[in-house]
Amino acid sequence: MITRHFAIPVTSPGTILRREMDLGTPLGHETEETTRHGALVSDAIIVRLIEDWLNLHGNDGFVFDGFPRTLPQAKSLDEILERAVWLDVSEETARDRIVSRLQCRRCGFTTSVTSAGFAERPICPYCDGPLVRREDDDVAILQTRLAEFNSKTQPLAAFYEEKSALHRLDANRSREEVFGDISRLIETRSE
Ligand code: AMP
Repeated sequence: MITRHFAIPVTSPGTILRREMDLGTPLGHETEETTRHGALVSDAIIVRLIEDWLNLHGNDGFVFDGFPRTLPQAKSLDEILERAVWLDVSEETARDRIVSRLQCRRCGFTTSVTSAGFAERPICPYCDGPLVRREDDDVAILQTRLAEFNSKTQPLAAFYEEKSALHRLDANRSREEVFGDISRLIETRSE
């Protein structure tokens, strides 16, 4: 939504890693087991992925989704990360969303099985790629993902709060409401 609306490049390590797995690259093989079980991939791998991506796309503003997720990741790119948008969701919301999430395997467009007939015709409206359930969108794996979040990602809230760079949003609300708030943050990014 951000790229389509603002023409700002967006990436996420998760999307890059899923592509590497689909392509069967050495990196895809190396990280497959970790992502399948919902654990975090090593900081060294993730930071290198992000740096490579920045070299290609990072000239004039960008958004990362799911990065940084640890303090070492945050510190490694501290000079260029301006704001942290913290999407607060309850465990119940996270569970409800992952059990119905459909994601385009080609471009990453995300929707749900309950939206606009995608269950019957699981084809991406933007690139015609296949809309599929993610292998790690599983209630048992969610417990590992939440444990990783609590131990490794949660400390980032204090880190960015200290710099007055933290923007907390209630992401239990509708997609449109949350996108409206994120849009306002992007529109004021250079103020
Ligand atoms: P996501 O698509 O953001 O839900 O990420 C899917 C999986 O990719 C995660 O469960 C991790 O295994 C891995 N991953 C994504 N982002 C990161 C990150 N910043 N640090 C470490 N591992 C990550």
